[in-house]
Parts: sequence; structure tokens; C-alpha cells
Amino acid sequence: MLSTMQDGQLSLANLLEHGSRVHATSQVTTWTDQGPRRETYADLGRNAARLANALRSLGITGDQRVGTFMWNNAEHLAAYFAIPAMGAVLHTLNIRLFPEQLTFVANHAEDQVVLVDGSLVPLLAKQLPELKTVRHVIVANGDPATLQAPSGVEVHSYDALLAAQPDTFDWPEIDERSAAAMCYTSGTTGEPKGVVYSHRSIWLHSMQVCMTDSMQLSPADRALVIVPMFHAMSWGMPYAAMMVGASLIMPDRFLQPKPLAQILASEKPTFAGAVPTIWQGLLQQLEAEPQDISHLREVVVGGSACPPALMHTFEERYGVPILHAWGMTETSPLGSVARPPAGATGEQAWQYRYTQGRFPASVRARLIDDDGNVLPWDNESVGELEVAGPWIAGAYHGGADPEKFHDGWLRTGDVGKISPDGYLTLTDRAKDVIKSGGEWISSVDLENTVMSHPAVAEAAVIGVPDEKWDERPLVAVVVREGQSVTAEELREFLSDKVAKWQLPEHWTFIDEVPKTSVGKFDKKRLRAFHSQGKLDVTHF
Ligand code: AMP
Repeated sequence: MLSTMQDGQLSLANLLEHGSRVHATSQVTTWTDQGPRRETYADLGRNAARLANALRSLGITGDQRVGTFMWNNAEHLAAYFAIPAMGAVLHTLNIRLFPEQLTFVANHAEDQVVLVDGSLVPLLAKQLPELKTVRHVIVANGDPATLQAPSGVEVHSYDALLAAQPDTFDWPEIDERSAAAMCYTSGTTGEPKGVVYSHRSIWLHSMQVCMTDSMQLSPADRALVIVPMFHAMSWGMPYAAMMVGASLIMPDRFLQPKPLAQILASEKPTFAGAVPTIWQGLLQQLEAEPQDISHLREVVVGGSACPPALMHTFEERYGVPILHAWGMTETSPLGSVARPPAGATGEQAWQYRYTQGRFPASVRARLIDDDGNVLPWDNESVGELEVAGPWIAGAYHGGADPEKFHDGWLRTGDVGKISPDGYLTLTDRAKDVIKSGGEWISSVDLENTVMSHPAVAEAAVIGVPDEKWDERPLVAVVVREGQSVTAEELREFLSDKVAKWQLPEHWTFIDEVPKTSVGKFDKKRLRAFHSQGKLDVTHF
């Protein structure tokens, strides 16, 4: 028996029309070197229509791909809506990719047009001759004359192009399962792989972002979107904000601790999202120049494990709770969120909040051991996490890397355990696990414990070869400015916090942990530094 219900399409055109009308007065604020620049959601709707008309005039039809090479700002936001709503596919290009990776992804996605920020023109210009399918470049917030384009590529001014267009667009009816946007995974191994989101997956994911067991976005929020729009769709915040009318604050290229502190002081956001390294940097800034940040009702931290010490400092010193969440480009990215269960208080609540969190109803999860067996949720059995659901990738663009998917499940490459009440604790990336004498040592646990020492700003742990034990942990430590600590003192500090056999005997002090293009610890490079003998290691 079929239901008697209608089957309305969950399309981004509908989302844009809804948000720009119903939440017409909600604001988008973009930070500039002159301070804030503001527009309303009604303006955003009109600009999206102008951009769609402009792209049509450049010949964009069907599901052609339009790339963006942009910071988080109002123009990027207009592209986020205009491109999918007109039926084309938004491809957010990561501005921090290595040149050859940028060329690979733009060619692989067959981008026809690239929207570039004026400040990023020199970066794009170098690669442009290699981008085989690009016919038009639109320069926003800058002078198009600064771009020397290869023959066959036309350069346009965003402002001039849009000024000539009507501010309405006859948005087409779109099948909710068609492609809306694509994002390549940062790919620390092999070529980057394209994840293609549908209108439906983005819509359902946006609803989840707003739900009470997730980020709880509401019309009362002013959300500071620090996580780049080219990284896992800014964790879904732009689309979710449009759904409920939360105002958005876009930091543009001002991502360093000092300007971020200025943005906080000026705009007083109620919510923000970023990887742990951003918050570590902000903390140091706040320590140097204290300011009230209690306007933040909560900040979401994910992308890598959030050190408990960071959560405590934010909450106890600044009154701002950190919400820990796990996700991947392949999971749109919201996978799990660490809100404690009803009734948990005090230390018990903290223990829940340290975890990577619980899965929402739409995300199924399981743990698999080396032999392919499904493991119990007993908070002890450790295996690879697999997930499935309506906003989880079922394949990569062009069928790349098919072994990441099987029986309708995505192999995440993350290793951990799940408690009987459904809380995930990740102990490692599969490739970062340290195997010592047949036992696993969690690099994440060691990092978190070392980072709870007051003199430590950052700590990254990698496995190094060992004749007797196969592998042993090496700790790379970044000491806080103005502080000092020795390897001996840190070992002593760990001695009552980790099992004796896990106590690291290899230590090195570095100025900075190398980071990936999206700000995570780059352990591949750290391992390379070690194998090339570039680290000055103390052994015990
Ligand atoms: P990306 O696709 O670049 O967002 O990277 C996804 C990967 O980041 C995941 O597979 C995890 O390894 C890691 N990750 C994301 N969130 C967390 C978290 N809360 N704790 C630990 N690792 C995380």
C-alpha cells in the first residue's frame, strides 16, 4: 500500500526562496580590513538570483560544475545557493591544496567557471593554464585586470557582471537526488576524492544541524563560520542557517587569533565552529589580551579530537561550553555529537563530552574488526567505524577508491569503540594507530594527556619503528610561549596518567606541528621529518 502523502522535492532552490523571504531580515556579515560589511537574507536572495542569471549568460546549463576559490564571505554564500538552485553543481576548491592537487580536482570535476576572490587571484593564476575545462573566471572583491588569463579563458568582474542582471530568477524544479555540490577530501594519501552531495542530502543534513541533539541553530543565533566553506561545506552551517534564519558572520581571510578576537568583540556571535587548532590559537590570544567571550552560548569543535584540556579552559575560564563532534567530508559532515544523556551531571557528564558523541537517528554505525566481524557496543571492543545513512557518501565521483564502500557502508578509516548507549570514542585513524608489542597505543589519548600539561601548546604523537616492540610512540611537543618544560618533566607528568608500558621514551620539541590544508595535525609530514632525521629526539 502506498502512502497518501505528497512528495515535495527537498531542493536548495526551495530553501533559498524560503529563507530569503521568511528570514528576509536575518543578516550576513562579512569581515573586511575596514570592519564589518552587512547584507540581509533578502539581499542574499537577490544576489543569488543575479549570480544565477550571470552564470546562465556565460553558458552554464544543466549540471555543469562551477568552482569557487574563495574565503568565507557574502559572495561565496551567494554562490552556495545560486549554483545548486539553478541546477548546476557547486565545487568548492580548497585554496590550500598543493598546486598539482588543485589542478587535479578542477580537471576531474570539469569545472567550467571559477569564482575567485581578488586576494586569491595570484594563487589561481599560477594554475589556470593547467585547468583544461575552465572557460570563465569571475573575480569578486578585486580587480579582474590583475589576472592574466590564458587564451580561451574570459575574465569578468563579479560586481559588473551582477549589476547587469535582474534580481529574480525562475528557479527550476530540481530532482532532490541530483547533484548539488561537491567537495574533494583533503587526501593525505593518493589523489583527492570527490564527494558529491545531493539536494536531498544537504536538506536532511541541514535539519539535523539545527536539531537539539546537534548544533541547535535557531533564529536567535549569530553563527561565526570559521571552518572554511571549502572544507566539508563549512560543516553545513550556511544551509542550516538559511533554513532557520540564524544570522551568519563570515571572517573572510581574517582567520588569525588577533582578528578573530576583534570579530568576536565587534559582532558578539552566539555560536561558532572550528577545528581545535583555531581555538588553541584564540586561547593564547585571550591569555595575552583578555576579553569577554561569554556571548558565545556554545562552540562546536571537530575535524580532529578535541583535547579535554581545551574544553575545560574554555568553560571554566571563559564560560563557553565546547561541543565536541565527529564527521568527515564523506558524511556531509555531521556524524556524531557529544551531548551527554539526560541526567548525567558533573564528572560523568564530562566523560560523555570528551567522546566523539552519539549518532543521530539517520546515521547508522557499526564497528568491524580485522577479520570483518561486527563488534559489540560494549565500550571495550575496538574496531574500524563504518557508517551509513541518507547524508553519507555511497561512492566517490567517478568511482574512485571503491574499496572504501561495501554492503552500503562507508569505511571511515577511523578506529574506536562505542558504548552501550551509543557514544563513540575514537582512539585513532587506522593509519595512525601505534602497535607496540602486539598491543595498540592510542596516539590521540597520549596527545590529549600531554596537552593537559599547562606548559604545552600542542602535542602530536606518531609511531616510530622499534626492534623489540615493532613501534613505540614519539611525542612532538610545542611549548607555550614564555613557558618551559623538559621531556623528563613531561614523562613524570604522564607517569600516573597512562599505563606504564605506554609511557613514551622518544620526545622531540618543535616550533609548530605541521598542519594539513584544513588545519589538522599532518602526521605524514611529521613521520617524514623523523625518517629524514630532521627531528632532534631525546631518548629515555
Ligand atoms: P575531513 O574529511 O577532512 O573532514 O576529515 C575527516 C576525518 O577527521 C575523520 O575521518 C577523522 O579521522 C577526523 N575527525 C573529525 N572529527 C574528529 C573528532 N571529533 N575526533 C577525532 N577525529 C576527528
